[in-house]
Amino acid sequence: MPATPAYPPHSAPRLYVDAELADGAQIRLDGSHAHYLLKVMRIRQGDPVKLFDDRTGEYLAHVSALGKRDLILTINGKTRGREAVPDLWLCSAPIKKDRFNWIAEKATELGVAKMIPVQTERTQSSNFKHEKLRAHMIEAAEQCERTALPVLAPQLKLPELLGQWPADRHLFFADERIHESGEGSFRKALVAHDGPAAILIGPEGGFSDAENDMIRALPRSVPVSLGPRILRADTAALAAISLWMAGRGDWNPR
Ligand code: SAH
Repeated sequence: MPATPAYPPHSAPRLYVDAELADGAQIRLDGSHAHYLLKVMRIRQGDPVKLFDDRTGEYLAHVSALGKRDLILTINGKTRGREAVPDLWLCSAPIKKDRFNWIAEKATELGVAKMIPVQTERTQSSNFKHEKLRAHMIEAAEQCERTALPVLAPQLKLPELLGQWPADRHLFFADERIHESGEGSFRKALVAHDGPAAILIGPEGGFSDAENDMIRALPRSVPVSLGPRILRADTAALAAISLWMAGRGDWNPR
């Protein structure tokens, strides 16, 4: 007797909707959501769809009416509450657009709570589109099954970011110049510093000396090395977030 498939099938489409959801509610989807379900997923009457609202949690719904360019979903029940997200921010200087979109996507998958684009002296490309970046994060959250979206903050200049830095939050400052000094062991930094945290990654050209001094002057800044090789900013972001998540985040089985 074949095992009964876990319902809903893992392949059920999963969408973020910017409206508070509730058990038994009906929701009308049009625009890109409808296009994706109708044309890409070829969804049919009665098919399951998972929805989450970044407010109350995730729900299972089914298609209760199909239109040409819209459809009605009826919510059957809540599957999960809105998750607690590890309290890690990523402060990252914008880099070339496709790579910056990639950082936003990976930070979302890895569990970051907030991303703050930081304009630095050597930032070459800060003409990223905030809405596009957020769309990449939403898509990543839909795919990796987050029930809470990361926050995408407005871009700040480095002095603004540091000037308003929360007193209780450690800033792990990825500094590629300290490996030789023996300073900057990420492992030791994780052991020494618990609580709210952030990771700061520079642009392709790195931080200037003045910026380096400014960052180190912050009481809670913690310079960390990511090894003896010079990583691209996107590689550095992924590596640093992963180290923090494994050491202080929610990757360890409870
Ligand atoms: N200034 C470098 C390029 C910077 S790499 C050069 O000489 O070419 C972009 C950013 O990635 C850096 O600002 C830093 O935040 C991070 N990074 C890269 N490699 C790193 C390493 N080995 N340790 C710590 N941070 C690193």
